Amino acid sequence: MIAWWRTPASRGLLAGCLLVLLNGCGEPDAPAPERSAEPVATLPPELPAPEPARQDEAHYDELRARWLELEHAARPPAAAADAIPEPAAEPVEPAPIPVTDPGATPAIGIIIDDVGHHLSRGRRLIALPVPVALAILPHTQSADALAAEAAAAGRIVMLHQPMENGAALPIGPGGLYSDMERAELERTLRANLDSIAGIRGLNNHMGSRLTSDRQAMDWVMPLLAQRGLFFVDSRTSAATQAAFAAEAAGVRHLSRDVFLDNDRSAAGLEAAFQRALVLARQRGTALVIGHPYPETLAYLERRLPDLQRQEGVEVVSVEELLARKYR
Ligand SMILES: [Zn+2]
Repeated sequence: MIAWWRTPASRGLLAGCLLVLLNGCGEPDAPAPERSAEPVATLPPELPAPEPARQDEAHYDELRARWLELEHAARPPAAAADAIPEPAAEPVEPAPIPVTDPGATPAIGIIIDDVGHHLSRGRRLIALPVPVALAILPHTQSADALAAEAAAAGRIVMLHQPMENGAALPIGPGGLYSDMERAELERTLRANLDSIAGIRGLNNHMGSRLTSDRQAMDWVMPLLAQRGLFFVDSRTSAATQAAFAAEAAGVRHLSRDVFLDNDRSAAGLEAAFQRALVLARQRGTALVIGHPYPETLAYLERRLPDLQRQEGVEVVSVEELLARKYR
């Protein structure tokens, strides 16, 4: 028996609720629409109740923080000041990327997820002096504008595909779920891919449950292969099957090495970034994923301009990382 809230119709309703919630986190200078209290009453008890009506832009950040809390509840506290805050589910050592050119300058790639809700934050990413990729959530209010501006600036645009998580948190419009029939999953993914111009690749938003589902991943990857898109596994679960499915489907793929901003304190951001620099020096490359938090943006704006001079590590595009892997 399928619980009512996992049926497509009620998922649409839930996605609508989330959209209403997220639409409340517009730019500071844009008036947020009035939100009705009615949809909240339809949420099943398994889902966390939305916060009381608020007009600031913190809703989305709070949702992700709640996700981190629920999905990685077993994460132990940092043992030392310089410990790297990674989810407990992470393997101790990431899978190595073959270093094809040992003489090349160590390089990191940076992807910023969850883009699309905040026009001004997206523009700050595009304005960074190095090629940071924007992973844009489908059907968000600034998705079209940011995709166009990023492409015009030579930045890589990715679809940040919402996928079912293991904590039953809402994932937003266009989500993929493990109880979908193949046709529905493909229809949803195609619609998302068609909704944003200039997409070069895809990575997963949340997805600890769906990326662990090999069959679902085997349905996702051929669509990427058909369109010549690459895949980045955000690695929100140590049990992820996504990279195996991508490999089997002939899709060029990378996996996230470091989440930059699980801890948004100055020390937390620097410690995570240092871990990426160490990996890049050891292996040649490393892939970092961050989020458009004000703290993360400020950190990148301060750190990236002199990075190569200070650290001997360059920031390259995700496609350059792929080129080094598949050269
Ligand atoms: Zn995300």
